[in-house]
Amino acid sequence: MKIIIKGNIVNPISRLKTEYFANQALVIENGKIIEICNLQDCEKKYYAFEILNFTDKYILPGFIDLHLHIPQVNQRARYGENLMDWLKKYILKAENDFEKLEKAEKSIKTCFNALIANGTTTAVMYNSYHKQATDLAFKIAEKSGLKVFIGKVMMDYFVSGEQFETTENSLRDSYDLYKKWHGKDNGRINYIFSPRFAPACSLELLTEIGRLAKKEGIYIQSHLSENREEIEQVLSKFFGFETYTDVYYKTGCLTDKSIMGHCIHLNDYEFNLLKETNCKIAHCPSSNFFLKSGVFDLSAAERKGIILGLGSDVGAGPSFSMFDVMKSMNYSQPFHILPQKSFYYATLGNAQALGIENTTGNFAAGKDADFIVIDIKKYYPEFEFSNIEDLLAYLIYLGHQGFVYAVYVRGQKIELLN
Ligand SMILES: [Zn+2]
Repeated sequence: MKIIIKGNIVNPISRLKTEYFANQALVIENGKIIEICNLQDCEKKYYAFEILNFTDKYILPGFIDLHLHIPQVNQRARYGENLMDWLKKYILKAENDFEKLEKAEKSIKTCFNALIANGTTTAVMYNSYHKQATDLAFKIAEKSGLKVFIGKVMMDYFVSGEQFETTENSLRDSYDLYKKWHGKDNGRINYIFSPRFAPACSLELLTEIGRLAKKEGIYIQSHLSENREEIEQVLSKFFGFETYTDVYYKTGCLTDKSIMGHCIHLNDYEFNLLKETNCKIAHCPSSNFFLKSGVFDLSAAERKGIILGLGSDVGAGPSFSMFDVMKSMNYSQPFHILPQKSFYYATLGNAQALGIENTTGNFAAGKDADFIVIDIKKYYPEFEFSNIEDLLAYLIYLGHQGFVYAVYVRGQKIELLN
């Protein structure tokens, strides 16, 4: 496969810098990026290549979503509850329904189609606690062409008294799925161990996950310090731990391959534990807004040098669109965020949080050609801009699903599932 993609190329480099190449070409061979090249040179140099013309459109790296929940796709925008009540009232029931595979299949496909429609090419996802439904999510992921990290939710001990699975089943089922799927299709499909959050896990379960992390270097995702009531539950449930973060730290669940969602109410000591372990944060601003969980201390995390990225946290986050997540990130902070920075976090920054920045996240030579084609003129025919900051701000504040014209992973066009 040899293709030249003609268009306006937007390439994030760092938190402060995004490159812009007006009317140039992205050269792709066997799914990988060869170079960004100007039009005349490129047609001479790569005369045997097929040309795809996206003149007047923008070529961006595919978005990466660092945190979302597959079974919650149809539970978005459930109005008026805080985290714990929202979970009880809507979410746990919807996740229980994944017991029925037919129902699960519909929701999983709806979720994947929403990711594709919104230009997300890599997604990090929690499924329900069911082994079979998670196996099905992997099969659909394999077919979709998207890059994924999926985990069966682990929840062997809920503070409210329900038991969804035993500790033994939780560990065995997760391990089986990990062995079956992790690393498939040359690293496109990945397994991530997914203890829901400390209030839903026994100390034994977390300790075993920590042990496995040390032994096999697994990916882990969980939630940390999203809501005040949640923190109180953790501190009364786990005797002898001074902070919520200590529970994950002392069980070995904080590693350089762990991603903790939210991290809103952390103190300085807890931020230091994340830094010390090189654990990553998935910041989910639209979800935090929606459930009124609080405001993430972005400056503190950046000051400490903690690697973080952005997640939609669907269903608490109502939208799959990473444009919407970037916008919420700015709206929720007390200061302006440079558009380049929000864009970096939704692309290359998230790749770095996953340790996959050598294969995706921008258009450096040798990386996979994971990109989206954006059409602004369809909605704003008079759109003009004078610099990259203007262009990115336009995308962040006015961008939506309708902007996404086409989606490619490893140079292959991704189509909606039916
Ligand atoms: Zn979440």
